[in-house]
Amino acid sequence: MEGVSREIRLAARPQGVPDEALFELVETSIPEPREGQLVVRNAYFSVDPYMRPRMNDVRSYVAPFTLGEAMTGGAVGRVVASRNDRFAEGDWVMHGLGWREWALSDGSSMRKVDPTVAPVSTALGVLGMPGFTAYWGLFELGEPKAGETVFVSGAAGAVGSAAGQMAKIAGCHVIGSAGTPEKIAWLEELGFDGRFNYHEQPVREALRELAPEGIDVYFDNVGGDHLEAAIGLLRTYGRIVACGSVSRYNDVEATPGPRNMFMFVTKRLRMQGYIISDHWDRFPEFLERAQEWVRDGRLQYRETVIDGIEHAAHAFLGLFSGENIGKMLVKVGPAE
Ligand code: NDP
Repeated sequence: MEGVSREIRLAARPQGVPDEALFELVETSIPEPREGQLVVRNAYFSVDPYMRPRMNDVRSYVAPFTLGEAMTGGAVGRVVASRNDRFAEGDWVMHGLGWREWALSDGSSMRKVDPTVAPVSTALGVLGMPGFTAYWGLFELGEPKAGETVFVSGAAGAVGSAAGQMAKIAGCHVIGSAGTPEKIAWLEELGFDGRFNYHEQPVREALRELAPEGIDVYFDNVGGDHLEAAIGLLRTYGRIVACGSVSRYNDVEATPGPRNMFMFVTKRLRMQGYIISDHWDRFPEFLERAQEWVRDGRLQYRETVIDGIEHAAHAFLGLFSGENIGKMLVKVGPAE
């Protein structure tokens, strides 16, 4: 196939807060499929906080990105040429070759997306990895019971907004924290019972006001002061779902952990982390339930879409200054 594709490569590893100079926009040729391969014109790719630890030269969620190579990550696009029996020209697919406009694949780690269910972009958000992360973490590790109080940090983000709404579906009283007034207004629309802007009020103080009887489950997207405050407010036999620590990803030095760890003993608390890619066997079950919730309006979503691959680094860095409401996406091709 004739023409030019563009991709973003990791040019250098960051120290602390990354900047756009670490990313290089490179022109390549549109690939030609060999036997067993297919070519996808990407419509959207995802930028996610987990990519920040992957920029360091140590194993984190998964192996580090390779210097000088195109970054990878979730993407959704349309098959434009196929010499692979499982996929036909015109199919919408979700795959792991993001950060580029055109992708060449052998079809492994690729699944079809039904464009009639919801906009294809949702395969990267509420009906994709982030939604599944919320679902598995909340129900498997949080074990929410009707009437319990669940606190979700990063609540206006992709994972947090889904986790909070799923806790509502489970019949819980839900409190969410986020970083702007617009995000707090959205949490109200979503039915969060309590909400606070952590830039305006210390987390511990806000939780004491909103949950005077304490909390039963803390879904942690943020770490740091949120985690310490949640430990302080958890009730006996409370559970912490350790999903992520976005407030710590740009740290240069390891920071001391929460100062109140002895409460794990006195209150018989439990905290467990997880990596969602260990649990793909449960994805079909999640998708079926989440599609139904999206259809009946119980699971709403928003997306912040940045147009053009040349703005991808900006979109990614925006995750760490809270520029996204809901899922942060980069649009790089036709979406219909
Ligand atoms: P989000 O859509 O939530 O985007 C990141 C958000 O984090 C920003 O919008 C910002 O919102 C918030 N944030 C950034 N810096 C800080 C800070 N210093 N303190 C508090 N909040 C901050 O991202 P995702 O939903 O994709 O990811 C949420 C979490 O889930 C991350 O920690 C991620 O690593 C984790 N994750 C874990 C997975 C797993 O397998 N365990 C899989 C996928 C994600 P605000 O304006 O509110 O500050």
